[in-house]
Amino acid sequence: MNSQAIRWVFVFGLAAMLGILSFQVYWVISNYRSKLEAVEQKVNILLYNVAEGLAKYNKSVLPRENLITRRSSNYYIVNFNDEIDANILEHYLLDEMKRTGLGLDFEYAIYDCDQDQMVYGHYCDIDLIPDNKTNTTLPTYDKFDYYFGVRFPQLRNAVFGDMSMTLILAGLLLITLLFFGIALYIIMSQKRLSDLQRDFINNMTHELKTPLSSIKIAGDTFLHDGAVRNNPRLNKYAQIISDQSGRLNQHVEKILDVARLEGDLVKLNRETFDIIKLLNDIFNDYTSKIESGNGKLQLENDIESAYVYADPLHIANMFHNLIDNAIKYGGKPPIVDVMIRDNHGKMHITIRDNGIGIEKSNLSKIFNKFYRVPTGDVHNTKGFGLGLYYVSQIVKLHRWIIDVESELDKYTSFSITIPKFNYG
Ligand code: ADP
Repeated sequence: MNSQAIRWVFVFGLAAMLGILSFQVYWVISNYRSKLEAVEQKVNILLYNVAEGLAKYNKSVLPRENLITRRSSNYYIVNFNDEIDANILEHYLLDEMKRTGLGLDFEYAIYDCDQDQMVYGHYCDIDLIPDNKTNTTLPTYDKFDYYFGVRFPQLRNAVFGDMSMTLILAGLLLITLLFFGIALYIIMSQKRLSDLQRDFINNMTHELKTPLSSIKIAGDTFLHDGAVRNNPRLNKYAQIISDQSGRLNQHVEKILDVARLEGDLVKLNRETFDIIKLLNDIFNDYTSKIESGNGKLQLENDIESAYVYADPLHIANMFHNLIDNAIKYGGKPPIVDVMIRDNHGKMHITIRDNGIGIEKSNLSKIFNKFYRVPTGDVHNTKGFGLGLYYVSQIVKLHRWIIDVESELDKYTSFSITIPKFNYG
């Protein structure tokens, strides 16, 4: 994933997290409000029924206004026009509590205007048998003469109890968001780390390239010197210096190419050129190399010339990588078949070898960075696992397509499809 994509993932991820979080907070609050409203409504009905029952029992009339007053979140005052019998009141309260199914503990007390205080206080645990009446601490209310007060200490807990499913779901969502946040954080730190690694490799390879080029030039000059040519021992060493510095240079170049790809630094210098001519030039370079090892490079071509709009340097590097692999992992001797075909306006360039092949389970991984099929080293072929990654990235940048087919110990065939080209 390139830096731009990671940045977008981060921005969208954060926005999604904030969105979900705000929606969740809104959902929990509105759920709490509606549950609280429902419980309060039930409490009002309960108190009204109790007052009505008491009035019937006393054969009195209920006050027309301000029958029920809420004094705090869980404390209610019920105005009454008559004296109240504590036992009857408790009986009605317990009865109504069961009927409405509220199941809340409650504490009640009756106002005694002679003493100007709340009396007959009693806490009723709905699940236990009521005990004796005790002193109460329920506050008085100076607006009425006859009234009773009821406190429901568990009113809010009952609301939360009702919301248990909502709270469990909200908790699960919160945990998911937390994991998502951690994952996002890890992605960002990994990205920072890989940026650091990439810069380091980039700088290091740059630093290596200059002395390597100097060694190569010096080695070549040495190799072409008359005195060295006539001395077999010196000639052999000069050849080694020239070959090995050339190889080292290729390795450094390969790493540099990938580092550039990683940093989105590859700017394609596209131009229109004849890809058939480019391929012919590349094959000519390889023919003598392959034939010197008794191998064969066979070309089957349907198309005389074909113009594509692409970066010739990267395209050449790409084919070099594929043919290098066909020789490296090819048969002994290597037979490399290259087929260029026009298939209904699409060009297919196939490079097929007669080598060790790749197991089906590994085929999907060979384009991954640093991936090497585990048998790679057994066959004594060294590499970094970067060549095919580079090839796949170049193909992707050009919006071309690459396919691979292989059979273990028989062949491997890479096929590149170019969707748009013009005949010359
Ligand atoms: P390298 O060759 O440096 O290891 P590549 O990215 O070019 O890296 O290839 C990745 C792996 O894919 C190689 O290690 C090898 O195991 C396998 N591979 C690539 N090309 C071929 C091929 N033509 N035949 C068989 N295996 C191949």
